[in-house]
Amino acid sequence: MSERLLIKNGRLLDPSSRRDEIVDVAIADGRIVGLAPHIDASGHHVVDATGALVVPGLVDMHTHAYWGGTLLGVNADKIGPLSGVTTWVDCGSCGAATFEGFFHHVIKLSRLRIIPFVNLSYIGLTQAGNLSIDVGELYDWRFADLRALRRIKAEFGSVIAGVKLRASNNACGANGPIVLPLAREAADILEVPLIIHVGTAPPRIDEVLPYLKEGDILTHIYNPSIGGCVLDERMRLRPSVREAIARGVKMDVGHGGASFSFEIAKAAIDQGLLPDAISTDIHAHNIDGVVIDLPHVMAKFMALGFSLEQVLRLTTCSPADILNRPDLGRIELGGEADLAVFHVRHDPVRLYDSLGASREAATTLECRLTLCKGQVVNTFEDGRTEGRTYS
Ligand SMILES: [Zn+2]
Repeated sequence: MSERLLIKNGRLLDPSSRRDEIVDVAIADGRIVGLAPHIDASGHHVVDATGALVVPGLVDMHTHAYWGGTLLGVNADKIGPLSGVTTWVDCGSCGAATFEGFFHHVIKLSRLRIIPFVNLSYIGLTQAGNLSIDVGELYDWRFADLRALRRIKAEFGSVIAGVKLRASNNACGANGPIVLPLAREAADILEVPLIIHVGTAPPRIDEVLPYLKEGDILTHIYNPSIGGCVLDERMRLRPSVREAIARGVKMDVGHGGASFSFEIAKAAIDQGLLPDAISTDIHAHNIDGVVIDLPHVMAKFMALGFSLEQVLRLTTCSPADILNRPDLGRIELGGEADLAVFHVRHDPVRLYDSLGASREAATTLECRLTLCKGQVVNTFEDGRTEGRTYS
């Protein structure tokens, strides 16, 4: 950005530094060059943020951003600027077979930051969402091809942030016991964390959790599925989940189309299962449904009693720490300008979970401005709609 930008009079809320104050933010050459109560506006393009919230660019720990390459993919560049999400963790949209295309056609060209987890399955999620080809990516366990992952490590080892396994019936059929140790091995080969999704069994969540170690991630933690739920039949938190929390496994919301229940979340939170990241699992089939965007999912947690500071922490520095990226999710003098401006709305809104249950949120967030990698990013029209209906 050659122009100097001044975001004036906003309420800066940055959980990483516990900063919560009215300040001006000056930006030049893509970096934050001033953070002070009154910065002289001359020579700046001024954004009046009076009454608005200025926060670090949001980090969505679970997304699907391989648009054009998978049916589920949405265009991060197009919709990210509408929600303040500057970092998109793509959760296994592609496997070794499709990774190169994702990197060159989407990740490299993006104005936002897309951090990919590679799928254990060679074909990734190319078939997911097409119900007329209802064949999971690991229905044939030979797709768990470690040789192929070793090959892409040579070229993309520095880009790949983790390995993804969907450990549920729709993805693996009966192959859970075979693919779970292979997922562990894949993450160890690539020397990255392993993220495992749980859903309808098999495999059961008790079989899945032993494969996760400190720094790995469990996603869809509040899903209501049979066999994949963190609670047992009597709504008690499973001992295997308590053990996973104790050994440092990170807990990710991954709302998704079918993976978030207010009732499960409330009961699990009351028993000590707090999220380390609030994320959407946004994709083409839920963007127009229950997910919409990350601020919408954050509002659901405020409806559950979380504070604004808490939901911001879980969508900024906390997921950035899981990713081992202490440069992200923070606003710091001298740092790259990566932030969002939100209008805080106080009109009560009814929000729905994956089962149709609802809660009222007193506070919702509406994005006004997004800056990523030092640049203001705006949405655009390309004649496509991001949402899809199942076919
Ligand atoms: Zn997902």
